[in-house]
Parts: sequence; C-alpha cells; structure tokens
Amino acid sequence: MSESLATTCVQGGYRPGDAEPRQVPIYQSTTWKYDTSEHMGRLFDLEESGYFYTRLQNPTNDFVAAKICELEGGSAAMLTSSGQAANFFAVFNIAGQGDHVVASSAIYGGTYNLLCHTMARMGLECTFVSPDCSDDELEAAFRPNTKAVFGETIANPALNVLDIERFANAAHAHGVPLIVDNTFPTPVNCRPFEWGADIVTHSTTKYMDGHGAGVGGCIVDSGKFDWNAHADKFPGLTTPDESYHGVVYTERFGLEGAFITKATSQLMRDFGSIQSPQNAFLLNMGLESLHVRMAQHCKNGQSVAEFLSSHPKVAWVRYCGLPDDPNYDLAQKYLPNGSCGVVSFGVKGGREAAERFMANLKLAQIATHVADARTCVLHPANATHRQMNDEELAAAGISPDLVRLSCGIEDTADLIADIDQALSFA
Ligand SMILES: *Cc1c(COP(=O)(O)O)cnc(C)c1O
Repeated sequence: MSESLATTCVQGGYRPGDAEPRQVPIYQSTTWKYDTSEHMGRLFDLEESGYFYTRLQNPTNDFVAAKICELEGGSAAMLTSSGQAANFFAVFNIAGQGDHVVASSAIYGGTYNLLCHTMARMGLECTFVSPDCSDDELEAAFRPNTKAVFGETIANPALNVLDIERFANAAHAHGVPLIVDNTFPTPVNCRPFEWGADIVTHSTTKYMDGHGAGVGGCIVDSGKFDWNAHADKFPGLTTPDESYHGVVYTERFGLEGAFITKATSQLMRDFGSIQSPQNAFLLNMGLESLHVRMAQHCKNGQSVAEFLSSHPKVAWVRYCGLPDDPNYDLAQKYLPNGSCGVVSFGVKGGREAAERFMANLKLAQIATHVADARTCVLHPANATHRQMNDEELAAAGISPDLVRLSCGIEDTADLIADIDQALSFA
C-alpha cells in the first residue's frame, strides 16, 4: 500500500490485529520463555526469528524501528541507545582494524570525536573532506582499504547541506556505501535513499522524539548496496561468522536483511547499546506528530532567519533557506519543503554581546540541546567549546560570536518578539 509520509508517521510500524491494543505495547521484559530448549536453540542459531533477551531485540523497539524504516523507504532498521551508538554501529559493522573511512568534516562534534579519536584506537583511520571540496579532492581521499563514506544531510552545528548524490556516486565508484546521518531534516524533509545513500542513521533524541524526553538512535538500511559485488571488502557480511555458527549474512538474509541482522546479532550482542522499550514508546509518540511539528519548526526557522538577516545588530546568519546562503541551491534540490529549525548567527560585538543577548531571552532557553519543541539557544564559545581560545575556535569553524538557535514550535511572532527585545541588550 502506498501512503503518504504523514500517514506513516501516525500509523506506520505497528498495525494491530483484531482485539489487540491500539497503542504500541511496551514489552517491559528482559526475557522470553519457551516450552522447549530446542525451540530456543533455533532462535540462537538464527534459523527462526523470535525474541529471547532484550539486550539484542525487543518487540516495542522493532515496531518503532519499522515505522522509521517505512518513513525512510528502507529494507530493515534497528533502534540504538543513542545517536552516537547508531553512528558507531553503522561504521563498525563494516569497518574496523586496518580499514579507512572518508567523512565530511562538517559533522556533529561527537561523531567527529568517534571517528577521529575513539575509532582510531580500534585501528580505523579517517580522512575528513570539506562537504564543499572539489571532485578531485574527494577522489584523492579514497584508499584501497576505504570501507565507507560518511556525512550529515544538514551538519550540526555548521548547517552545511551535503550533496548526497555527488558523495554517493564517489562512494559507489570505489565499491563502498554512503552512510548519511539524517537527524536534522528527518525523512519528512529529505529521504537520502532517493539520492543514492545506502545506510541512514538518526539521533532520535532530536526532532523524532521532539520533546527532549529520551536519548536514542536508529540505523536504517536501504537494502540496495550489493555487498556481494564487493565481497573482498566486506568479509564480515559475505563470509562465515564464526561467532554465529558460521552464518553468512548475505546468503541467509539477502541484501535486504544482512546489514541489520549482523549489527543486531553481533554488535548488539557484544556492546548491548539497545534503546529501552520505554524510550522507544516515547519515541513513537514523538513520531506520530513529526510531520506536523517539522512544518512549524521550518516555518519558525525561515521566519527567524529572515528577521535576523535584516537586523542591524546581527553580523551574519547561516540558514540554507535564505537565498544568499552558500548552500541555498543544494537546499532547493534536497530540501524543497524546508530544512529544519536550527539557525546559526553572529551578534555584532562578539562574545560579550552574544552573552548579553542570550541572558535577556525569555522564551528561548539556554540548553545543550537542539531540535526540541521548545526553542533553545546555545553559545558554543561559552559552553560546548569553552576550553578553546579564539584561535582554536576559528580552526573548528566556530566564531566567538556564533549563537546556535533551535527554533521550536511556538508561535512565530512570539519568538521574533523575544529575539528582538533581547537583541536590544546586545
Ligand atoms: C545529537 C546528534 C548526534 C548524537 O546523538 P545522541 O543521541 O546525542 O547520541 C549525532 N548526529 C547528529 C547530527 C546529532 O545532532
């Protein structure tokens, strides 16, 4: 059945049968009981699907993952305990010791640390390229041991838009998949699989939850990347897994199921970074209104960005919906219905003026968070990047005057009035 994204947001994933609960049930159980140990043995051998222990899988999570899978147009999906865990699993499922990854340099700080420092300690190397690099620069980043390309549809907090098609083509020319973190636009505003991406990740902590209630993540597989065509690069998917009775994931589960089954039966088994079923339930409540909320986040983001760009106390504004933004054309291609509610701008007068502006906001609250129903604001130079001096900030692409404003779903005129009065103190 082909239905619109709005309907999938509300009803996708969980379709109750006759006399079953209308709301997704929370399976608050660590364990499942079986009548015979033979039956349980078949589950452990992956010969039959079923649940046995919530460290690996839980039905509540799977209902919600199935909704996100439908929204992205994927073949299989899994929930993780956080966005960090989702990105770690997505990369580590196909790349490890002795391997290499190409990543956009405009990505979330936590993901940068993961790829640059923590995964380096596991023997994985990463080359970072600007999302605006030339085709030659992109080409030069690849090595014979490159196993994946990674980027964010809209970078947090730099707000660059990724040219998904260009990065997907480069990845495919080298026989590797493109992994896209689609947290900021959500599938309501962009579906990276339609542009050639192979794996999509999310920090569901952001717009999908939408209410600042639960940390979580999700991985979705398009099911389209042909691991067998590049079998030498991906032995973990195409040769027997000795830790799982010699199962060959691509043979047993096909291209549609291999990636997520391996991530579940191997990585979730060994790292145990599963989302709690209670949080999955809260996430599903957020997803039910995602399409309605995203429209208001985008309306507020666009209106606030336009207001700021004509304000005498504002030095600069970054929002891809502004016609003079460097990524406006890419946004028109990939995000025709809107991008997200996050706007970055500089207050004239630098660091101190930014602080005075923020101290006088009344509706917008100071928080280390984005993509929430409530408008929130962060001054990275004074918070997340506080340990850096002005020179180090410049190297990280963050100016001392940068304010990251995440527009919520309040009334547009109220938000603008709040920003206007606070700017009079800047
Ligand atoms: C927040 C965020 C993450 C990390 O997600 P957590 O849920 O906080 O672990 C990853 N990618 C992007 C784009 C994010 O905004």
